[in-house]
Amino acid sequence: MLALPPSKDVELFDNVPLVRLHDEAEHLTAFLKALYDPRCLPWKKHDINTVRTVEGILLLANKYEADHLRERIVDLLERDWPSELSFWDINEAERIAKEESGEFETEELMPDPCAAIRLARKCNVPSILPAALYHLSRIQGISDCHLPDSLKKTFSGEIRGQTADFSLLSTEDSRCLLVGRDAILHLFEHYLKKAHNEVWSSIKRSVLNHDNCQRFSWRFEDKLRLEVLRYNSDPLSVMKRDLNSDEVRNLAELPCDSCLEDFFSSLNENRINFWDKLPSLFMLDPQ
Ligand SMILES: [Zn+2]
Repeated sequence: MLALPPSKDVELFDNVPLVRLHDEAEHLTAFLKALYDPRCLPWKKHDINTVRTVEGILLLANKYEADHLRERIVDLLERDWPSELSFWDINEAERIAKEESGEFETEELMPDPCAAIRLARKCNVPSILPAALYHLSRIQGISDCHLPDSLKKTFSGEIRGQTADFSLLSTEDSRCLLVGRDAILHLFEHYLKKAHNEVWSSIKRSVLNHDNCQRFSWRFEDKLRLEVLRYNSDPLSVMKRDLNSDEVRNLAELPCDSCLEDFFSSLNENRINFWDKLPSLFMLDPQ
């Protein structure tokens, strides 16, 4: 890391060569500690302090090419902000369980996605951007932690769940968020119609009466639409439905088993496509 050419002119300190570094003392201390003992790195998922703790270490791991250290930190960040839907679902289940336990403050449930996005840009960890931007897209603008007091009072009853420090976002990332939010709603609508059309086209080929099934499809789509618009702008959670849930079984007019299965499998398939499209919705694809 700090190889010096043999020379008589090397400045000494306590009889050892002295090297002057221009890094921030706090970053360098954390970096050297982690270099000699990586066990001091954070390891817990969704720790709200992770970004602050690893930022200096990651900056210097990049600069001094400490690849093993960088890999460990990127792994940790990717556990919080995964690029695979199955891991996102596991994280969501854990977050909801924590929330329902009532043992955690809202701020303790998830780290601030704005801080993660800023770190990803600064330290070249693009893999965490889609999940962090998606999570941020679920947080309302009025949940900005620097909202002026006058607005805080006005919206005190409306601000639910996690707050975020939107001031950490660059102009470029604010634009990614803005476009991504709209694109998410449009794509969700597209996939709802697609799920309906896929079921309806198989119904049309059938000789049996499927009036109930068609009505179910319309009603269920409206229900999903309303949930996205009214509650959380979170199509990934809204599209995740369980065929055997009480919600479905308690419906007054249940469709036939075949239509029900078709509709739900189409919804799930489209949910996977939806996840895969996140990088392009947030304009993260290489230009
Ligand atoms: Zn049917």
